[in-house]
Amino acid sequence: LHQSKSEGGNRTLFYNLDNTYRLHRRIDIEASLRPALYMRQFYLAYQPIFRVSDGKMRGFEALIRWKHPELGVISPAEFIPIAEHNGLIVPIGEWVLREACKRLAGMNNYGLGPLIISVNISPVQLQDPTFAQTVLHILDEHDIDYSSIELEITENVTLKHSEKVLSSLSKLRCAGVRIALDDFGTGYSSLVNLKQLPIHCLKIDKSFIREIDLPSAERLIVESLVDLVHKLGLEVIAEGVEYKEQYELLKSWGCDYVQGFLFGKPMNPGQLDLSMIKTNGTP
Ligand code: C2E
Ligand code: CA
Ligand code: CA
Ligand code: CA
Repeated sequence: LHQSKSEGGNRTLFYNLDNTYRLHRRIDIEASLRPALYMRQFYLAYQPIFRVSDGKMRGFEALIRWKHPELGVISPAEFIPIAEHNGLIVPIGEWVLREACKRLAGMNNYGLGPLIISVNISPVQLQDPTFAQTVLHILDEHDIDYSSIELEITENVTLKHSEKVLSSLSKLRCAGVRIALDDFGTGYSSLVNLKQLPIHCLKIDKSFIREIDLPSAERLIVESLVDLVHKLGLEVIAEGVEYKEQYELLKSWGCDYVQGFLFGKPMNPGQLDLSMIKTNGTP
């Protein structure tokens, strides 16, 4: 390796190595993404969501994981954007919904009451004009109650494709499927979405929750947001709750549901079965 003397030269070298590594990893991931689906390398992790008023379990958010044969477990934050870029998110997204439906049927045998499974939906999936039809078809296939599925959508791209997206979402909502606005407070957040999108529920992003136990702007924003959302007739879920202090504040503000490491990390299917046997539904 050629060693540059100046600090600037070194920095350029490291920068280039880093970029080359990243590029190779991306190419690797992209190439192995398609076979991953039929080689059954994906699985879902399930993170519990609890109702604040009585401490009972509301349900779970399904979070995709990829066990790559050489690279190990890859975060969705890394491979979902790639799948969105090459369109594979559509078949992957359908697999996620099917898998979540199968799991929900099993969960209902534990007698925890009717649970809701939340599934993340990419903006790319929403742009497909057959999206609503596909979702209802998958739910029918597994004989799932429409109201026990919640689709978590993100706000940024919904604005760009409002016509198509709105009609799909309205169709699903009319059928009884629940819709949550995810990652609220990040990206192109807009209060307009709160009144224009046919949603039941708002999820406040963890980047906001992180700061609420400090004298921060986030604290005031989240407190006011809970109030605003209730006045609009919607429910609120706080995600990324890690500390008791954060939970106590959210509870005092009337937040409906909480999710975060304080209550439970995402569990793989084996862990989930164990925890369902042990729990009576309270955190
Ligand atoms: P998200 O929808 O905002 O999901 C919440 C993320 O926060 C998850 O990361 C979860 O593991 C993590 N988390 C939960 N509680 C805590 C906490 O108390 N503290 C902290 N620091 N983090 C917490 P994960 O599983 O790595 O997923 C990352 C993102 O990947 C998700 O963000 C979502 O946008 C996307 N994603 C995951 N599964 C799917 C999927 O099936 N389809 C699509 N389209 N996207 C998915
Ligand atoms: Ca989510
Ligand atoms: Ca989020
Ligand atoms: Ca998200």
